[in-house]
Amino acid sequence: MNNLVWLVFDSARYDAFVAAHTPVMNHISMTDRRWSYASWTAPSHLAFLMGAVPHHNKPGLLASTQYADEILRWAERLAIEGSNTVLRDFVPPLSLPAFLAKLGYRCEAYVSLPVLNPQTVLSAHFHTYELMPEHNHLEAILQRLEFSDEPSFFFLNTGETHYPYTLHWEDASNFPRIPGLNGVWRNPQEGLNSNCEKEIFNPHMLRTLWHRQVAAIEYLDTVVAKLLEFAPENTWFIITSDHGELFGEDGLFGHGPICHDKVFEVFFLEGQHPGAC
Ligand SMILES: [Zn+2]
Repeated sequence: MNNLVWLVFDSARYDAFVAAHTPVMNHISMTDRRWSYASWTAPSHLAFLMGAVPHHNKPGLLASTQYADEILRWAERLAIEGSNTVLRDFVPPLSLPAFLAKLGYRCEAYVSLPVLNPQTVLSAHFHTYELMPEHNHLEAILQRLEFSDEPSFFFLNTGETHYPYTLHWEDASNFPRIPGLNGVWRNPQEGLNSNCEKEIFNPHMLRTLWHRQVAAIEYLDTVVAKLLEFAPENTWFIITSDHGELFGEDGLFGHGPICHDKVFEVFFLEGQHPGAC
């Protein structure tokens, strides 16, 4: 059976990913343009943990057919026999970690955004589920990962690509604190005292922020290179985003209670460890 590493770049836009230079991730797979099931972090991750990767949005296909096709794809991803077994064991719990645990996987999650904390329903069925102390430190997450003879499922969420698009050694104090984007889940009172709209809706700053997200993706590509160095060749990778981000389109910024193509449009790539090919 394959190990499974599912890596989520929080808030990374499809066009930012395409603009970034990502030779390491390109070696895993071509990048696909997909659509998220949700416009913000928690419900999008819930869909992931139900085994639902971002969808194709193809016309002419029944939704029920697409759901079944996606569930059956887990047989290929995990290198297991028998699609009937996949359907039988996946439904009705509809929980990817429960399904994998039944197959003998050790299931571990390392998440970075506080809205995904271990007290939420998202932590169900994992053997280990940890909220990382920093929201933007994928390299620290990699230090938690230990592959062994038993198959592993590592579900990883990292926030270098989340506002304010800073790497773990960078100072974010020059950027406005935006409740709901950074901080409200750690300090609810902050959400009641928000007055940052005038600061953020500046066209030059919005463009700068988009470029910062591109730079964060390029940095993450170098971290994925480190992951590939110690991940066994029988490892399947899924790398995607939980939703996009608005950088001023139609007067909108961020993600969440927003219905806009650029919030639902995400990048998606998956494939076997390139060393195995
Ligand atoms: Zn998110």
